[in-house]
Amino acid sequence: MSDIVFKNEIPAALAQKLAAQFGEETSEKLLAAFGRERPVTFRVNRLKADAARVERGLSDISLRRAAFYEDAFIAEGASEREFEETALYQEGGIYLQSLSSMLPPLFVAPEAGESILDMTAAPGGKTTQLAALSGGSALITACERDRFRFERLKYNVEKQGAGRVTLLNEDARSLSPYFRFDKILLDAPCSGSGIISPSHSVKWSEKLLFKCVSLQRALLKKAYELLKPGGTLVYSTCSILREENEEAVASLKGVRLIPLAPPAGVPLLPSLQGTLCVAPDGLFEGFFVAKLKKP
Ligand code: SAM
Repeated sequence: MSDIVFKNEIPAALAQKLAAQFGEETSEKLLAAFGRERPVTFRVNRLKADAARVERGLSDISLRRAAFYEDAFIAEGASEREFEETALYQEGGIYLQSLSSMLPPLFVAPEAGESILDMTAAPGGKTTQLAALSGGSALITACERDRFRFERLKYNVEKQGAGRVTLLNEDARSLSPYFRFDKILLDAPCSGSGIISPSHSVKWSEKLLFKCVSLQRALLKKAYELLKPGGTLVYSTCSILREENEEAVASLKGVRLIPLAPPAGVPLLPSLQGTLCVAPDGLFEGFFVAKLKKP
């Protein structure tokens, strides 16, 4: 698909919002980035494999590593189907995941024995990454409202060998107020303004944005309630719009922002100091991450 045809599919209201937030020049680059396909990227699942096993199991595919995370690989010129046919994939030794989507669990930094809530978890890329990062030793609760997506989450948690994960098929806003967690990841449902590409049909609309903004604030408020004092909350979206990001974080009163160090080689857009807004390009999806601490 040519860039011109693709650009015509971007809703005018979204193009205007991007220009107002980032300026005309940057917003033109963002629109051009939406017209690019990204290579397949994946994460080694340390619960089942290691880098040496990846190199043996995928010796026919040309791979390179991402600079910010030793478990992240980039496969230029290979299709998802090629991966799905490998034994390594079928055994759960790797998980196909966008690079940007691997960032939030790194900032959660789960440790053995900690109680961690993954509040909106399906299909489970980040739940299984949290489990792997803790060596299978964190006590993870993964919640998902949608029944069909919940089944996908359950399948992935089992396939990736993520033990000590409790699965809840409910609306996270209704979780018992008696729960308390050391750490929470809220990878919130969003308008998807960061992940537009020729193979993702454009679902963005002002109506969807409005709905997401209200849901994100309600989920953030609930996350704050469920955190132990001194606990940390990582908030992320696959949107680059400030309504869903900085303004959502600012809606939560009484928390302290923990500044995030920019990860190596990750392209960034301007965002509130201490937060990260990943710029969509030929490799990364647009994404936002912020880390908050409850006093
Ligand atoms: N973290 C997931 C991953 O890495 O695989 C992706 C999460 S996706 C951005 C957001 C998820 O939130 C969707 O699966 C959606 O069904 C779910 N969701 C939306 N509203 C919810 C709610 N009120 N309670 C729980 N889950 C919800």
